[in-house]
Amino acid sequence: MPGFRPELVGSLSEGAQGNPTGVMMEAAFAHHRIDARYVNVEVAATDLAAAVAGARAMGFVGCNVSMPHKVSVIAHVDGLAPSAAAIGAVNCVIRRGGELVGENTDGIGFLRSLQSVRDPKGARVVLLGSGGAARAIAVELVRAGAASITVVNRTPARGQKLAAALYEHLGFAAMVEPWPGVHRPAPGTDVVVNATSVGLFAPHAMVPVDLASLAPGAVVADVVYNPVVTRLLREAARVGARPLDGLGMLVHQGAAAVQRWFGIEPDTAVMRTALESAMQAYQSPA
Ligand code: NDP
Repeated sequence: MPGFRPELVGSLSEGAQGNPTGVMMEAAFAHHRIDARYVNVEVAATDLAAAVAGARAMGFVGCNVSMPHKVSVIAHVDGLAPSAAAIGAVNCVIRRGGELVGENTDGIGFLRSLQSVRDPKGARVVLLGSGGAARAIAVELVRAGAASITVVNRTPARGQKLAAALYEHLGFAAMVEPWPGVHRPAPGTDVVVNATSVGLFAPHAMVPVDLASLAPGAVVADVVYNPVVTRLLREAARVGARPLDGLGMLVHQGAAAVQRWFGIEPDTAVMRTALESAMQAYQSPA
């Protein structure tokens, strides 16, 4: 019998105003006739415990967790899925029976986006950045059989820490290179990933990387999705590399969350179309 109580999911973050996730989630719900609502909630760090307790009390099926709560939320869930444990951060909470399980779908989202253009197996990867996104991406690239990962980060100690975590959790020896000026990927590099926040809301900013050494068809991926076409991706196209935008990662990490919450593999094309229209409206307000 149809009822009047939708299932609840949502997002807990600071800066919720700029987070377009709800648009693609609700597009997926409408398309697949999932009776659910996605509420995008602004939660201060000091209120995180209460917000998670509230979601628990109200029977949320789950929620996304975004900046700056991805690590601190670990203290408020009942357990971690293996990916979240290896990554050390949670972006998706799932209710399983009476328990809340922390999962991380950022890396899976990146991987699925990459798989739309090439197989990560055997890839020689340069990973720019060592924050939460970089760590999630690195873990899934290792699991998917990447041949090598060279970590390049502005703060060298953080790059070393990422490499140490990959070795500790997955027995994978990543290389770490300093980033004193412009990074030049070694010839033979198959994939360059910008996992820093450089370029976010800054169409003219680009991480200091020289793409001239890349062979035609090498992939240059950006995690930044606003703007969708970053300066790095424009430069990649100019040198004959294959640009991969951050919107694909965003859509696929969201699709993985929908699958875990509702057991349905959503149509990612529907989600991407909804997101693109919303982002266009966001970028060019009337
Ligand atoms: P973190 O704060 O954890 O990490 C930021 C990273 O960017 C660090 O490696 C930092 O280096 C580096 N960085 C920042 N400014 C500069 C700079 N001026 N020059 C060089 N390096 C710099 O953030 P996250 O990893 O969580 O997020 C990174 C980006 O990924 C954000 O733009 C976020 O929006 C995006 N993202 C996209 C997703 C998607 O689905 N497309 C999902 C998740 C995140 P250092 O260590 O030296 O500070």
